[in-house]
Amino acid sequence: MAMLGLQKLGIEDPHGSDRKRLVTFVEIDRCATDAVAVVTGCRLGKRALKFRDWGKVAATFVDVSNGHAVRIAAKESSKSLAKTMHPEIEGKNQQQMAAYRQMPDEDLFDVQWVKVDLGNEEFPGYKGERVVCEKCGEGINFKREVRRDGRVLCRGCAGESYYEVVDGR
Ligand SMILES: [Zn+2]
Repeated sequence: MAMLGLQKLGIEDPHGSDRKRLVTFVEIDRCATDAVAVVTGCRLGKRALKFRDWGKVAATFVDVSNGHAVRIAAKESSKSLAKTMHPEIEGKNQQQMAAYRQMPDEDLFDVQWVKVDLGNEEFPGYKGERVVCEKCGEGINFKREVRRDGRVLCRGCAGESYYEVVDGR
């Protein structure tokens, strides 16, 4: 998937001379995500890898030098195709591994050219103002604050929290 994305964008050297050209969005947190990071060189800690938790084996590759972007999604039909290609192999994983190596890209992936609106604050090199949440006092980077009723809040205090504070042990 990542190799096809790079190829579509004409990025040949993602770890070298092209290393600042690419921002990648991944839509699942599974092994495919780590593979995308390895192939593209886009890492979460460099802000070049963006995670959208949609539970889909798909990724969008954005060439920030010209705005070209391509979204590549694993085709659901490739699973049943693998079964018909290698009925002699027992075990779904083995069957799929053998078949996926032989399948052309068109059978494996859907490819869409897309446009991604990347605000300045999304770029890896963004140096922005840091604000402080008026409720919890924690610092917020990259314009992730929420402005509500004239207050500046972090997303947690604005009601998007994924945790609940409990008594310490
Ligand atoms: Zn807060």
